[in-house]
Amino acid sequence: MENNFLKLPVIPLRGVNIFPYMVLHFDVGREKSVAAVEEAMSTDQKIFLVAQRDAKVEEPSADEIYNIGTICHIKQFVKLPGDQLRVLVEGEQRGKLSNFADEKGMFYGDIEILEDISCQEENECEAYKKLIDKAFDEYLELSGESLNEIFTELEEESGLGRYCDIIGAFLMLKTETKQELIEIVDVKERLEKLLLIIKNEIEVLKIEKAIGSKIKNKVNKVQKEFYLREQLKVIQEELGEDDEESKELKQYEERIYKAKLSKEAKDKVLYEFNRLKSTGVGSQESAVIKTYLDWVLDLPWNKFTKDNLDIKNAREVLDKEHYGLEDVKERIIEYLAVRKISKTLKGPILCLVGPPGVGKTSIAKSVANSLGRKFVRMSLGGVKDEAEIRGHRKTYVGAIPGRIIYSMKQAGYRNPLFLLDEIDKMGADFKGSLADALLEVLDSEQNSTFRDHYLELDFDLSKVLFITTANSLEGISRPLLDRMEIIEVSGYTTEEKFQIAKAHLLPKLLKEHNVEDGKLLIQDNAISTLVENYTRETGVRTLERKIASVIRKGITELVEKDKNKIIINSNLVKKYLGPVIYTYDDLDKEDKIGVVTGLAWTGYGGDTLPVEVTVMEGDGKLQLTGQLGDVMKESAKAGFSYVRANADKYEIDKDFHKKKDIHIHIPEGAIPKDGPSAGVTMVTAMISALSGRKVNHKVAMTGEITLTGRVLPIGGLKEKSLAAYRMGIKTVIIPKDNKKDLENVPKAVKSKIKFIIADKVDDVLQNALIGEIEHGN
Ligand code: ADP
Repeated sequence: MENNFLKLPVIPLRGVNIFPYMVLHFDVGREKSVAAVEEAMSTDQKIFLVAQRDAKVEEPSADEIYNIGTICHIKQFVKLPGDQLRVLVEGEQRGKLSNFADEKGMFYGDIEILEDISCQEENECEAYKKLIDKAFDEYLELSGESLNEIFTELEEESGLGRYCDIIGAFLMLKTETKQELIEIVDVKERLEKLLLIIKNEIEVLKIEKAIGSKIKNKVNKVQKEFYLREQLKVIQEELGEDDEESKELKQYEERIYKAKLSKEAKDKVLYEFNRLKSTGVGSQESAVIKTYLDWVLDLPWNKFTKDNLDIKNAREVLDKEHYGLEDVKERIIEYLAVRKISKTLKGPILCLVGPPGVGKTSIAKSVANSLGRKFVRMSLGGVKDEAEIRGHRKTYVGAIPGRIIYSMKQAGYRNPLFLLDEIDKMGADFKGSLADALLEVLDSEQNSTFRDHYLELDFDLSKVLFITTANSLEGISRPLLDRMEIIEVSGYTTEEKFQIAKAHLLPKLLKEHNVEDGKLLIQDNAISTLVENYTRETGVRTLERKIASVIRKGITELVEKDKNKIIINSNLVKKYLGPVIYTYDDLDKEDKIGVVTGLAWTGYGGDTLPVEVTVMEGDGKLQLTGQLGDVMKESAKAGFSYVRANADKYEIDKDFHKKKDIHIHIPEGAIPKDGPSAGVTMVTAMISALSGRKVNHKVAMTGEITLTGRVLPIGGLKEKSLAAYRMGIKTVIIPKDNKKDLENVPKAVKSKIKFIIADKVDDVLQNALIGEIEHGN
């Protein structure tokens, strides 16, 4: 081998490289490298160190290492635990590797010693050096690094090639970049390359610095906020407010400013809010304050819906949603028209009076729909205590506002349509304050400052449109009646019920039950059966329930039997609902003695009122049993006196009152209304029983009597005649003074029933009793 060539053990370096004249510490772990060190140590301590192209490779092949590296002298080595060696080497000269091979368990190679090609153009090289010096100073300043002593010492005597190597080794460069410097043998080229590298590094450092300060600014800001927040927390903790608490308080504060409260309400709420702040959100008292604040803040102090006072639209909505009820609709339209002109909805309160299930509530809802107002409903049935209307004072444990305020909260707007249901069922409290409270609510002069006991604030109800309902006018106090405009909503005929069922109830219920179009077909005869044989009410509420029940049964069959559609006819209704409940031959089929069909008018509509009289041996006692109110008892006594006084006329034993007892019984039917209109019925039954004459079972009657035998007018003729019609009665005897009321009786009823006008008891008897009746006086 020539002088310039050496055969040396080789260690491929991972992630580092070594310049000539530099001292390097590194650990050796790979078996082959350990063997190489040991081999070198056993000869002249020389070894060739060269960088791997890829540090990750464990056993590099010739082309996975650079071919220019550094011949080094191993100055020292120590064994480390785990067969590792820590080696201290000093670079000596550049070398070029060839014949890289695995030999005797280590890498060997032939190394050509590379000498520097020194600089020929001295000035140029000096100039480079100066530039490098300057750039290097800048680099040091930017990087903040400082030179060590050895560096300065070496610099003194070093040539330019070495100078480059020292600086190259000092710079924090990537292995590849350093490798580039190591590979340059020509000093001038090396100088040039070094200058370029330093300039590049300076640029990188400058950019890093700029980014660094930007990031630092950002970090500083975040830190500052964090610090302030932490401080705030400590302050809040000191003050006894934790984060949750201040959040809750803040929410209240926001709500207070958003609620558009009245001046009084705002003052009061702020007062309570401050109290809440001082007691702390978690305290026991705070729960009470919060409930109060929630109530006040949830009320629609200043929220309104816009009224649609288009009368045409109102008429359309009412017609669309309700069958018939022409008078009612007309009155409502008039009412709205007047309001439209006067631009307010002040004025008398509408009161819809009629039996249950005739659509009072739903027509009120339609009014709300047509006006575009919210609808709220509150039932007064059974309300006994003023507090239910006006709330309990806050001092009362568990106090809440009254139902008026509750409903207003539900409405969410200050101008809803507010339905006060069953105003006639309201109980009377002993102080009369309940009625007063309701009067205040309904009185447009007073209700702008309605005061609830719990709120202790005035709430303006003057924009509310109140509508009330009642079954009858009897339970309503005079002052209340004075403020209301009564609209009677009476019961329906069978035909009307049929139409309502077909056009309204059925489609509505099918929709509610999510029945697809065409799956359940309910035939007209099924509806008729439901109307005639399963219900006998004035309204349509039971009818609605029965239809719903038929629909449910139909759906069950559809699903259970996996059918496509079901046609429901009259027979299927009977199968679904069981034996029919009512038939037209419910009435006595024969004429009997002492049995008369009267007609009554109750809060639930009209009804028949059968009266039975029996006469037995006795001493003139008059016995009354069944559902009789006080007034009816009086009526029975008056009738009894009339019969006694006129016994002769009716071929009755004049002394019957000495020998016979009379028993009047009203066998069925709840007659809550203490109506006196059964006078004629009782007299007819008594005379029939005493004279032994039969009563025509197809006749029904209504009327009161005087002691002289005059027939006095009664109320509720329309309801009564509807009841007679439902029962299949053919003749109805009515008082002469009620003749004018026939105008209100539906045509369908008038076409089926003959109305006989009676002025005196005799007119009644003549038409009801079978057989001759003597006419006198
Ligand atoms: P009320 O308030 O008089 O007791 P509702 O308003 O509760 O009666 O009526 C009972 C049901 O009958 C409701 O579903 C209602 O829509 C319906 N109804 C009553 N009358 C009619 C009518 N004339 N047209 C359409 N549906 C009606």
